[in-house]
Amino acid sequence: MNPPTTGNESNPYLQMRKRLDKAAQLVELDPGHYEILSEPFQELSIAIPVTMDDGSLRVFKGYRVQHSIARGPAKGGVRYAPDVHLDEVRALAAWMTWKCAVVNVPFGGGKGGIICDTRRMSQAEIERLTRRYASGLLDIIGPERDVPAPDMNTNEQVMAWFMDTYSMHQRATQTAIVTGKPIGLGGSKGRREATGLGVAMIAQEALKYAGLPETGCRVAVQGSGNVGGLGALFMHERGHKIIAMSDMYGAIRNDEGFDMPVLLEHLNQTGKLTGFAGATDFAGEELLTIDCDVLIPAATENQITSGNADAVQAKVIVEGANGPTSAEADAILEAKGIVVVPDILANAGGVTVSYFEWVQNRMGYFWEKQDVFDRMERIMVEAFHDVEAAAKKHDTSLRIGAYCVAVERVAYCLNMRGMYA
Ligand code: NAD
Repeated sequence: MNPPTTGNESNPYLQMRKRLDKAAQLVELDPGHYEILSEPFQELSIAIPVTMDDGSLRVFKGYRVQHSIARGPAKGGVRYAPDVHLDEVRALAAWMTWKCAVVNVPFGGGKGGIICDTRRMSQAEIERLTRRYASGLLDIIGPERDVPAPDMNTNEQVMAWFMDTYSMHQRATQTAIVTGKPIGLGGSKGRREATGLGVAMIAQEALKYAGLPETGCRVAVQGSGNVGGLGALFMHERGHKIIAMSDMYGAIRNDEGFDMPVLLEHLNQTGKLTGFAGATDFAGEELLTIDCDVLIPAATENQITSGNADAVQAKVIVEGANGPTSAEADAILEAKGIVVVPDILANAGGVTVSYFEWVQNRMGYFWEKQDVFDRMERIMVEAFHDVEAAAKKHDTSLRIGAYCVAVERVAYCLNMRGMYA
């Protein structure tokens, strides 16, 4: 049996294991299956040599972790950041397993990362890094094996380079090797908006669940990237007031609510939120504890911890980011009566549309955006109700309810497939 998960609130992998342990007990998971699911199925650490623009050679460290392939090919993004570490990638890979199972798409979970600072690299250097990383993964990836996607600091262009590198080795264009590609190169309409839109769809369900008004709520959003920026836009479109937002440079507030399309245009022009006309700048750390109805952490891991959970004033938290709340903070928030919609449900719109992209690539037939959004909404709403039912059945939080749904679905596949020995 694997060692117990104790200590270290800032280690995302231990945090994932704490939630898994609780759900495993509640669903009476077979001890052998617990042992399988508490460790990654396969992980690769690679050295990635890159010739820099000045002619020097630098070696970057990269990872790809496949947590589970019980339900289908591993699925999950690739993150480029200076602070990427193996336990973070392991946690992100496991969260992908649980997320795909919660929305019931036929994928397992994987994640990749490279320790690098893309702000200090040219596009040509990022391209060479991506191609060498993709070639280093050739033995473990493929449309039926492991399908990467964008994550923090990777985008459609990075996916296009990744797809091209894989295709050159296959001697044929293989669009289904990655999702999150440019639309003209096999990407799905609606993928760019999917995670933020899914956050807004799930927030509406959460407001009903919490007995709050379905319009006119005061919303604070941490992070203004793909998830936070678009999540805020879709909440605004649903009649809510976005009263505060932050990014890595600072935070802004306006109690009357922002005109979101104008704010996003300001962000596009200036690269930061601060300095927006009619808004007051304030310190980013204060965003999480501001007086609001709905808080959407949509930046990064480990933001709501035992150090600040008691000061959170929101009535509902909808996790746009992966792993923003620690297990220790969960207990504090629960005692305060705050409804927390977990990451593996709230931000699953992205992987749902990634699944649609993979399906469209394999069919060679592409859907209209409204069709994508309608199919996605059916899946997200059904997933919310599955999680709500599991939480009720096991008398637990929505987070542990979501883990229960996911763990039971993965365990079902392990059981039906049996053990090849
Ligand atoms: P992004 O790079 O587009 O945006 C990240 C945003 O967070 C930026 O605005 C950045 O300035 C801000 N930020 C970073 N550190 C911050 C801090 N300490 N305080 C405040 N703001 C900070 O990334 P993204 O794609 O929006 O991803 C955000 C989170 O959502 C990540 O946890 C990611 O794994 C998760 N996620 C993304 C998707 C997707 O489809 N993009 C899907 C599921 C989950």
